[in-house]
Amino acid sequence: QAKLGGRSRFAFFEPHMHKSLTERMVLEEELAAAAGNNQLHLHYQPKFDGQKKLRGAEALLRWHHPTLGSVSPEIFIPVAEDSGIIEELGRWVLWEAVGQCKSWQRMGMLPEGFRLAVNVSPEQFRGEFFTDELQTILLSHDLDPKYLIIEITESSLLEDFQDARSKIQIMKGWGIKVSIDDFGTGYSSLAYLNELDVDELKIDRSFIRSIESNEDSRTIVDALLSLAKHLNIQTVAEGVETQGQWEYLTNTPCALFQGYFLGKPAPAERWFIPGEDVALNLASNDGVLYGDM
Ligand code: C2E
Ligand code: MG
Ligand code: MG
Ligand code: MG
Repeated sequence: QAKLGGRSRFAFFEPHMHKSLTERMVLEEELAAAAGNNQLHLHYQPKFDGQKKLRGAEALLRWHHPTLGSVSPEIFIPVAEDSGIIEELGRWVLWEAVGQCKSWQRMGMLPEGFRLAVNVSPEQFRGEFFTDELQTILLSHDLDPKYLIIEITESSLLEDFQDARSKIQIMKGWGIKVSIDDFGTGYSSLAYLNELDVDELKIDRSFIRSIESNEDSRTIVDALLSLAKHLNIQTVAEGVETQGQWEYLTNTPCALFQGYFLGKPAPAERWFIPGEDVALNLASNDGVLYGDM
C-alpha cells in the first residue's frame, strides 16, 4: 500500500546523507510494523473552558520503540506522511480513539458537550475513502458522531478545495465538528473561512508562547480571536503553559484552553480513577508522572 518514492527522496541521495537516509528507511519500516507490534498508544490531553471545566480532549499518538524509546510525533508523523504509511496509521488512530470515547461514554464519564479531537493529516484527509472509513469506524463502535471533532490543518485545504469542502460538509451532516489546527501558521488565506463551515480554530502554540513577552504576539492573538468571534467560530488556545498566559487569555474572547498549565497528555487509564473527579485528576500536577514530560 505504501506509495513508492514519496517526496523525491532518492533525488537527494548523496554519501554524506547515507546514514540519515538509512535511518529514515529503518524508521519507516519499523513504523509500518509498529501498530502490529503493540508499540502505538494514544495519549489524551484535556481541553478546558475558562472556568476550568472539562470540555473535551485531544488524542495524540505515541510511539514507543523498543530500542529508541519514545519517538516524538514531530519526527515520525512527517516520516509516515512522506512514505504513505500515514493513511494506515491514521485509520488506527481513529479506530482507537473512537473506541476509547465509546468506553468513556458507556462508563458515564463524559460531561455534557464533551468532544474528542482527532488529528487527521492532509494525506489521510485527501484519501478517496476517508469519510467512508470514518463512517464505518463510528458504526462499528456505535459512537454518536456528536462526540467527535476532527482537526485538520490549512494545508489539507490546499490541493483540492472543493473536495475538502465536500468532506467537511459530509462530516458536519453527521454531527461531527471540524477544527482548523495550528491556525495562523499555514496557508492563511482567510477567504476560506467564509466558504467552509468550520466550527473551531486552534491558535498555534507559537503565538501563545510569547504572549507575555511580546506585544506583537498579543496583537496577533487578539486579532485572530476577534476574527473568529465575528465569524462565530469557537477558539482554542494551544500550549498554555503559564499562569500569566492563562490570565491573559481568559480575559479575551477565547473559549477553550489546552496546555501543560491545565493538563498534560496522559494515557486513557489516567482518566479514570474510581471515586476521583476526572477533571481534577487530569489537571493535577502529578499528571507529570503519567503524562508527557
Ligand atoms: P498538534 O495537533 O498541534 O498537538 C498539540 C501538540 O502540542 C502536542 O504535541 C501536545 O503534546 C503539545 N502540547 C500541548 N500542550 C503543550 C504545552 O503547554 N507546551 C508544549 N510545549 N507543548 C504542548 P505532540 O503530541 O508531540 O504532537 C505533535 C504534533 O504531531 C501534533 O500537533 C500533530 O500535528 C501531530 N500528531 C500527533 N498525533 C497525531 C495523530 O494521531 N495523527 C496525526 N495526523 N498527527 C498527529
Ligand atoms: Mg491537533
Ligand atoms: Mg495544534
Ligand atoms: Mg500546534
